[in-house]
Amino acid sequence: MADSSYRIAVLAGDGIGPEVMAQARRVLDAVASANSFSLNYDEQPVGGAAIDAVGSALPKETLASCEKSDAILFGSVGGPKWESLPPAEQPERGALLPLRKHFGLFANLRPSICYPSLTHASPVKDELIEGGFDVLCVRELTGGLYFGSPKGTREENGEKVAIDTMVYRESEIERIAHVAFTAAKQRGNRVTSIDKANVLENGILWRSVVERVAQSYPEVTLDHLYVDNAAMQLIRRPREFDVVLAENLFGDILSDEMAMIAGSLGMLSSASLGASKEGGLYFGMYEPSGGTAPDIAGQGIANPIAQILSGAMLLRYSLGLAAEATAIEKAVQATIDEGARTGDIYTGAEGTHQVNTEAMGDAILRQLANTQS
Ligand code: NAD
Repeated sequence: MADSSYRIAVLAGDGIGPEVMAQARRVLDAVASANSFSLNYDEQPVGGAAIDAVGSALPKETLASCEKSDAILFGSVGGPKWESLPPAEQPERGALLPLRKHFGLFANLRPSICYPSLTHASPVKDELIEGGFDVLCVRELTGGLYFGSPKGTREENGEKVAIDTMVYRESEIERIAHVAFTAAKQRGNRVTSIDKANVLENGILWRSVVERVAQSYPEVTLDHLYVDNAAMQLIRRPREFDVVLAENLFGDILSDEMAMIAGSLGMLSSASLGASKEGGLYFGMYEPSGGTAPDIAGQGIANPIAQILSGAMLLRYSLGLAAEATAIEKAVQATIDEGARTGDIYTGAEGTHQVNTEAMGDAILRQLANTQS
C-alpha cells in the first residue's frame, strides 16, 4: 500500500488523444483510490491543440508543468490540419522532439504484447505464437548512428559521399543496460542484448559493457544475439524472449518489427525514460505507440488500452508502484479474455462483443474492481 501524492503532467494532444486519455485517468484514479495514493493531474495543451491555442506546439507553461511533475502522461499529437506548417513547427517535430531533448530521455521502452485471444491479429503463424507473447524492447534513444559526428554529405571525386558516425561511450551503454536489467527483474529475469560485435567496434564495446553491468544483476540471465539473427529469431520464437536490449538504430528497427507482430497498434504502450531517481526509478514520458488516428478521431471508438497501459508503465517506472501497475495490466488482460473489443480488434469472433472507447474503460474498471476487492 502506497501512501503518497504524485503530480502528473497530462498532455493529451490531438485527435483521439483526449478521448483515450480520459479513460486512462479513470483507470489510474481507481487504482489510486484503492491503494491510498493520490495523483494530481496538471492538464496542459500540446501539439496541434497548443498551436491553435497559443501558437506553439510546446508552450512554455506546458514545459514548466512537466518540469514540476513526477512524470508526463502523453497522448499523441498531429493531424492533417497542421501538416502544411513548416516542418520544425509541426506538432510532432515541435513538441515531441524538444520534450525528449529537454528531459534527456535516453531510454525507450516498448512492450510488445500479444494476448492469447488476439493472436489472430498478428501476421505471424498461429503455431509460433499460440498462447501469446510479451516482449519488452529497450532501445537506447540519444546515441549511436543518429547523433554521432561527423555527419553530412560532401563532394568527393565528382560524386556525393554521405557520412554518418556510430559513437557510443561506456557510460551511455551502462545506463541503458541498467534500465534493461532493472526492467527484467520486474518481469521474466532475462535480457537478450543485441549487437553486431562480429563486424562493429561499437558492438564489441556494447557487449563487454553489458556483460559488466550484468554482474550487478545475478538473478537476471543474459544472452547475446547479432542483430541480423535477432530479426529472424524474434519472428520465429517471440515467446522465448523477455527483455530485448539494443542500441538506437537496431532498437528502432526491432521495436517496429515487434509492434508489427503484436498486431494491434491501439494496444501498444511506450515509455521514454530520462534522469534516474532513487530506487531504480526514472523520470519519464509515457505514451501510446500509435498516433492521433485522424480517421476515427471524435467518434469515441478508439481503443484506449495503449493509453491505459502507458499509465501502468508510469506507475511502475516513475513512481515505483509495480503491484498497482500489474493490477492494471491484469485487468486489461481479463477484459480482453472476457471478449470486449474496440473496432480495431473486433473480428466478430464467437464470445466477443464490440464496445466503444468509454465502454472499454468501463469494462477494465469492472475487472480492476474484481481483482482489488
Ligand atoms: P496512427 O497511428 O494515428 O493511425 C494508423 C492507423 O491505426 C489508423 O487506421 C488508426 O485509426 C489506427 N489506430 C491508431 N491508434 C488507434 C487506437 N488507439 N484505436 C484504434 N485505432 C487506432 O498513424 P498515422 O495515421 O500515420 O498518423 C496520424 C497522425 O498522428 C499524423 O499526424 C502523425 O504525424 C501523428 N503521429 C503522432 C505520433 C505521436 O504523437 N507520438 C505518433 C505517430 C503518428
